[in-house]
Amino acid sequence: MKTYTITVLAGDGIGPEITREARRVLDAAARKHGFDLRYRDALLGGCAIDAVGEPLPAETVSACKSADAVLLGAVGGPKWDALPSGERPEKGLLGIRAALGLFANLRPAIVYPALRSASPLKDDILGDGLNLLVVRELTGGIYFGQRGRDNTGGVPAAYDTERYSADEIERIVRVAFSLAAKRGKRLCSVDKANVLESSRLWREIATGLAKEYPEVALSHMYVDNAAMQLVRDPGQFDTIVTSNMFGDILSDEASQITGSIGMLPSASLSSGSLGLYEPIHGSAPDLAGKDCANPVAAILSAAMLLRYSLGEDAAAGAIEKAVDTVLETGLRTHDIAMAGDRAIGTRAMGDAILHAVTV
Ligand code: NAD
Repeated sequence: MKTYTITVLAGDGIGPEITREARRVLDAAARKHGFDLRYRDALLGGCAIDAVGEPLPAETVSACKSADAVLLGAVGGPKWDALPSGERPEKGLLGIRAALGLFANLRPAIVYPALRSASPLKDDILGDGLNLLVVRELTGGIYFGQRGRDNTGGVPAAYDTERYSADEIERIVRVAFSLAAKRGKRLCSVDKANVLESSRLWREIATGLAKEYPEVALSHMYVDNAAMQLVRDPGQFDTIVTSNMFGDILSDEASQITGSIGMLPSASLSSGSLGLYEPIHGSAPDLAGKDCANPVAAILSAAMLLRYSLGEDAAAGAIEKAVDTVLETGLRTHDIAMAGDRAIGTRAMGDAILHAVTV
């Protein structure tokens, strides 16, 4: 039987509770689809600071590098907020992303029919619903470019530089084309090519690559228009690809359209098959240990792990379908419950999804 190794970085706050449910659901999907999963737990974030004095121990990096995939809960919490920025839990998160060379960040934003009323958008704007994937470049651009301050003419000034090499653009746009080809076959490349030289190079490269993916329809949109179109007519988008900073903003905007932070998974991919999978929400210290966090974002992150790192598409699809089924039956954790709904806990939601995967 095929066996895969998953390193689990449960982290802090609700991280251990939600990754526990994700593991149970992963195991059920693996049993059903004929493969085996081995887990290796490693420390990241606040729990690593408490145990060994640093947020990203070297053993964690090697446990991740030698795994087939990494599942992460969340890191951080008030206990560590007073530490200097270089020693805080978030430093561990940035460190592991860099150590694994994760350059492609995938953020799906799905409005489930059963949860339409959670979206802040009006029903007629949501139309047939939303199933959008934002592919964000994660290791280049202005967040990593040259920056500094000067004092020319006695006036303090500061600058940050957006710089992209052709290679960096090509590898992220290729990822996006491949993903779009397996989805709705529409790719919208978002840039600011009317103003920025780096965007003009981005657009040239995306246009050039389109010939290699004839099954995908490529369009281009300026970022200001994209921000507007996302709330005016989100259904027009299938897959969006964009730079680090534009993607940071647009993926948060897209996630808000779904109205439920506890439902949204993400994946960060490297040039090989290794990827890191995590919910987009944080460690929700207010909910930790209370069995009331929504485990769905972690469970859907596990489904992405199966699809993108292990190539177990059928098992991934079974988990996604199970989540759909459970929502259709009306089960809700408190964050997605509407007036009159009786909310269930983290474990009960995990049980329901696990059951739906098994039947
Ligand atoms: P958060 O996402 O943890 O919480 C925001 C709100 O959403 C809270 O009201 C919380 O109760 C709720 N929420 C989050 N996840 C939920 C879930 N699964 N089910 C139900 N409700 C949920 O963001 P925050 O409060 O800004 O940050 C808390 C801590 O998490 C901070 O230390 C922050 O640095 C850290 N953080 C970590 C990550 C990460 O690990 N990737 C991301 C964001 C924030």
